Amino acid sequence: MTSPSLPPPSTDALAQAVEALHDTMVRQLSDLVAAPSPSGAEQPAAAVLEAQMQALGLDCERILLDSRLIQDSPLFSCPCDPDNGRYNLLARHLPPAGTPRGRSVLFNGHLDVVPTGPDRLWHSPPFQPRVEGDWLYGRGAGDMKGGLICTLIALQALRSLGLQPAGVVGFNAVLDEENTGNGTLSTVHALKHTLAKARLTDFDAVIIPEPFGETLMAAQVGVSWLFVTLTGRPAHVAYMGSGLNPIEAGMALVAELKVMEAEWNAPERRHPAFADVAHPLNFNLGTIEGGEWNSSVPCTCTLGLRCSYFPGIDADAALAEISERLRAKAQALNPALQIEISARGHRSPGCVYDLAHPAMQTLAQAHTQVNGQAPTRLACTATTDGRHFSLGTDLPVTNYGPMARHIHGIDESVSLSSMKRVSQTLARFMVDWCGVLPWSPPT
Ligand SMILES: [Zn+2]
Repeated sequence: MTSPSLPPPSTDALAQAVEALHDTMVRQLSDLVAAPSPSGAEQPAAAVLEAQMQALGLDCERILLDSRLIQDSPLFSCPCDPDNGRYNLLARHLPPAGTPRGRSVLFNGHLDVVPTGPDRLWHSPPFQPRVEGDWLYGRGAGDMKGGLICTLIALQALRSLGLQPAGVVGFNAVLDEENTGNGTLSTVHALKHTLAKARLTDFDAVIIPEPFGETLMAAQVGVSWLFVTLTGRPAHVAYMGSGLNPIEAGMALVAELKVMEAEWNAPERRHPAFADVAHPLNFNLGTIEGGEWNSSVPCTCTLGLRCSYFPGIDADAALAEISERLRAKAQALNPALQIEISARGHRSPGCVYDLAHPAMQTLAQAHTQVNGQAPTRLACTATTDGRHFSLGTDLPVTNYGPMARHIHGIDESVSLSSMKRVSQTLARFMVDWCGVLPWSPPT
């Protein structure tokens, strides 16, 4: 298809246009990072981004997170928080009526951030953004408010050159990515079932600017959370032998899971996309609760676990295998040990991305034009919302976003020069994929 296009801007012109927006980029990202948005309470960041999208004149709608509408989807995860009237934001650039329409793209990113840990470990408070050298610090700066801002900077760069995409460009900012993925699932559901002004058919491709260092994502693992509650037999430690310690049993169960993790990572069990990844599957003990008193054998212990598995493995089957192993270990430790396993949070299958699709080829070529070399392909050891498009729609999708450090850790930061390269690449992608039309600022 030929795009209804003006001559494309040069790579240098795009680079200069993005560079001229440096201060805008830092301000927009700082404002967004300063709005705390832990999963389940993202509204402060949604309000900031909505104002930024409206200031750009984008057609912006709110899409409610309504678990009742999506709970029968195979990609639904048991929520960690009530819906509480929370909403995704879907803004669209619409080319002028009556002009030939180019191809379209949806940029999809999450607003929620993970917990910060103790403030005392940070060099500056996690929700007080700070620039030092090339890095902007703050919780969510990298994962993934930086990527969301890159998409807006890419559009602004085109406009500063008197251009606008000739196709629809969507900017979807979602909730609940870090714990369930139900945010993006809600938008996909709404677009499929005419519950929004926008339609799934508005879009020809999806790009998720997650912070994986300007790589193109080729595949991602599946991820499931589970909670294991062990109940023992409390006792005074003076008579410890009469008790049954569920925390110590929990330690033994975690050791058993590490054995299982090694088995699942074995070369003969690998998905081919992960053949060269050193340790693709990580089982993580993320939380532990239990005990009442140093001098009592405790009553209960609850382990919060995150396990992963390769694309093609059914999430429920993976959970069943893990649960069976844990129950057997608990039984072997002591038949009196009670074990309850519940699933809440991620229940997310892995997936493989079709990077041979013309849209993904166009993105790779845009990266090559900006950087002088082809992008690296990444088999990702985490999950992303890309699965909702890869497994739940016919749209081509990948992740492509800036370089970040210490995401989910302390002193998280994003590289500003990388954000500018990503913004250039996304602008170049819109030029080459959507085509461009003249644009003049409203008077
Ligand atoms: Zn992320």
